[in-house]
This record gives sequence, C-alpha cells and structure tokens, in this order.
Amino acid sequence: MSIADKRAHIYHQMVSRLGGDPNAVDRMTDDNLFEMIRLYDDLFLDGQLLVADPKIRTRFGNFGFSGQYGPFAEYGKEVDSSGISGHTLIDDQHHTVLISRPIFTSLFKECHRSEYVNGIACRSQLECLQLTVEHELCHLILNIWSQELYSAGRGHGQPFQALSSHLFGHTHYQHWLGRCLGDDPDTHIRSVRATVHPGDVIHIYNNKNRSRDQFRVANIAERVTGTNLDNGQIENHSLIDVILPNETS
Ligand SMILES: [Zn+2]
Repeated sequence: MSIADKRAHIYHQMVSRLGGDPNAVDRMTDDNLFEMIRLYDDLFLDGQLLVADPKIRTRFGNFGFSGQYGPFAEYGKEVDSSGISGHTLIDDQHHTVLISRPIFTSLFKECHRSEYVNGIACRSQLECLQLTVEHELCHLILNIWSQELYSAGRGHGQPFQALSSHLFGHTHYQHWLGRCLGDDPDTHIRSVRATVHPGDVIHIYNNKNRSRDQFRVANIAERVTGTNLDNGQIENHSLIDVILPNETS
C-alpha cells in the first residue's frame, strides 16, 4: 500500500466515526483520536510504536484534544511559537499530544480552496487532523527511538525532516492552517516573488488574529517587511502569508 492509500484507509475508518462528515471534527472524542493513532501505528509502523516500550501503551492515554486556540507547541520547557495546531509535550513521565479542537473545527467554514499541512493539500478538517497527527507522531518516534537525534534536531531539524519525508512523504514540516491557499506552498512562494514589489499595497494573512490585513510592502526577500495599514505597525511575514489576487474571493 502506498502512503496515500494508507492515509485514505485511515480516513475512511475515521470518517465513519464522524457520521460520514469529514468536517465534523467537533464530534471526535479523545478515544477516537487514540484509535486513529493506533491505525497509524498498525499501517505505518507495523504496530511497533505500542510495543516499543511497555509504558507507552499507557502513555498513549494522554493523547487528546484541548479546548484552546494556539499558538502552542512545546517540548519540555521549550516553546516553539510556529505551531498553532497541536503540540507534543514531553516530560519524564509521559508523552502527550494535544490537538487544538477550536482550530480544526474552524477550518473549511469559509475556505473553499485548500489548507496545506506538511506541504500536502487537505480538503477537510479530518485530512488536516491526519496530517497533523502524522507530524506529532514523528516527534514521538524520534523521542522514543532516538532521544539523541531528537535533542540534536531540536524538534524540526534534519532528522525530523528525513523521518517525516520517508515515513509520510511530507515535503515541509510547517503547516499553514487557516491560510486557505490557492496554490501549493512552493508555487505560491514563486508567484509572490514574481509579482510583489516594494511599494505595493497587498493583503496579508495575519496569523495572530486570523484576519486579512492591508499591508504596504517595504522589502521582499526571505520574508516580506512593511507596514500593516490596519494597525500602523511595522511587521514582517512569511511569503506564504501574502494573499495573491487569485485568493481574494
Ligand atoms: Zn512540530
């Protein structure tokens, strides 16, 4: 079975728990989430995750949903401010993956394009949740089987990216939930570089409050710098957050 086939198999199992509606993640229980993780373990890891350590079976009881919006992604006391969807929280006692329910249940209400998670297009809340669980599983796998690499990689370093690419075919380690992109991330970034210039007034997706703000561009390089015309602040944003004319509907 290909990666896509395995992912689709899990999707079909899980969508039945949501009454057939992939945009009804609000109905999903912590037990359902644990069930999804077991399916991932069976199909992608030959069930090795749950037998890797006798304690892990009970540790998995700590997977669940939180009622909070991000941003939060924590490893021990380290804070990774880039994560808004879910986080892997690891301490001496247990592994915990918490998924922000409000973020997932807000997706695809107004978005009629795609959300991208780990470089892969998602067209429903459930697909976005699966891709996020895959990302969190990579954190967990590295932490269980290679504490050294996990620490060296500080979360999303080369070992993480190699694992997530090999196991799940991820092409990015970021997600842009709520962004609702018109194109895949790489195409989007190329279009931004080709069409946006200093002095332009554009729209930008503001991650902080999930708004779409007017923005005057001062400079564009790895990030876009300029003035947010809605609040008067000098800001810089990822090129992913630049809203192109084909995304204004
Ligand atoms: Zn992460």
